[in-house]
Amino acid sequence: MQQIPAMFIAGDAALDFLNSLATPVDVPVDWLDDAAGLLSWLAQAQLVSAPVLRQVRSQCSLGELNKIAEQARNLREWFRGFVEKHRGRPLAREDLKKLERLNRLLEKDGCFNQIAPTAGKQGNAFELRVMRKWRAPEGLLIPIAEAIARFVCSADFAYVKACEGPTCTLFFIDQTRRRARRWCSMAVCGNRAKQSAHRQRVKANR
Ligand SMILES: [Zn+2]
Repeated sequence: MQQIPAMFIAGDAALDFLNSLATPVDVPVDWLDDAAGLLSWLAQAQLVSAPVLRQVRSQCSLGELNKIAEQARNLREWFRGFVEKHRGRPLAREDLKKLERLNRLLEKDGCFNQIAPTAGKQGNAFELRVMRKWRAPEGLLIPIAEAIARFVCSADFAYVKACEGPTCTLFFIDQTRRRARRWCSMAVCGNRAKQSAHRQRVKANR
């Protein structure tokens, strides 16, 4: 199980999913490399609630969950290809055929509404809560597919960017007002770039 907390710097869960494979320092880390990693990442990403994760853990074998982790990695690398190809310009209607894989996953969803007590003491006693039938361990992929689907339906791909850090593989959506974001984070790649520019200047002055 991964001890390093996963990274959520992308501004959207779909891109954070891509960033679950990254090189935070020197060594590549895959947060989805096994069942425990996948469950932990889903919890950190708040895509699946803790009670559901407990239920899944008790009902599925480790082998089944490892297989789902592998499917999640396949889905991630497929989506990485899509993002690499399409980022930098808005999506077009013709791109839908490349997203069939997501629609196939989404149609397996077993969502339904339930009347549930509201959390707070004030206001209405009940609220309508969306629940999901967890028919199979494969259901764990559906919240991910949903996050990706929501992203392709709402994000402007013109502002999907890859960090400019020379060895960085992180993606993000640039939500800054001037659309000038260049780095996954100022603290990591932004600083590295500043230091290397500084070194270049010192070298040039010598
Ligand atoms: Zn970076």
